[in-house]
Amino acid sequence: MKLPGIEDCRLCPLWKTRTHVILGEGSLSSEIFLIAQAPGEEEDAADKMFVGPSGKIFWELLDQAGADKANLYISNLLKCRLPQNRRPKQAEILSCSLYLERELAEIRPRIVAPLGYFATKYIFESRQLGLFTKAEYPSLIGRAFVGKDFTVMPLSHPSSLIHHPEFWSGAVKKYRRVFQLEPCKWFSCCPMRAFTLNRAIPFRWTDEYCLGNWQNCQRYELESRGIPHSDNLLPDGSRLKDH
Ligand code: SF4
Ligand code: SF4
Repeated sequence: MKLPGIEDCRLCPLWKTRTHVILGEGSLSSEIFLIAQAPGEEEDAADKMFVGPSGKIFWELLDQAGADKANLYISNLLKCRLPQNRRPKQAEILSCSLYLERELAEIRPRIVAPLGYFATKYIFESRQLGLFTKAEYPSLIGRAFVGKDFTVMPLSHPSSLIHHPEFWSGAVKKYRRVFQLEPCKWFSCCPMRAFTLNRAIPFRWTDEYCLGNWQNCQRYELESRGIPHSDNLLPDGSRLKDH
């Protein structure tokens, strides 16, 4: 997407080492928005997203996950290359978030999938979805978090599979969830969502019921029939205090 001022941007020091500012790509009416970390050396030279080794993995992951590429927009947290692929600095992320926020506001996706730790951290902090430590981050991958404007599902960055091909099938499974995600219609107001975000119950409840299997949820059944039920009723009919 063309963004005013971005081609000559000097908001952070990364302008000094870039060849190109890499813009996000895809349909502006996409429901799904994927956020990678930053362009690599090949992307910087080619002026295009995902053309290097991670790109090869990324497009293969999307194919195996059955992604509809016409319904997908991809962009980076940082639009300029990080020298020697070093980690991004917080000030750089905050400077460049101006552009990412413009893209999100224009596209208004239903699902946002941040790829990797830094993109996930930015989206969680900016959408008040909670704080997490680096050690906790892997437990978020492939799980859905319903935010005010969109549902967030963190995914592993394709570059992580370059050195860990043994995680390939697990990654495909999680990528597939993004393209098939259909949360229960009551997920945004259900107490189960708040319990999960506050870590009062394990993620498995929302994973097993709220994201595609809500027909088997006892809360859903009672809600559909207009029968009052207490907040501590879990999807399988047991009570929160019993766990
Ligand atoms: S990384 Fe973003 S904020 Fe920094 S110079 Fe590039 S476009 Fe500007
Ligand atoms: S617990 Fe049941 S009713 Fe609540 S969001 Fe999940 S599936 Fe829907």
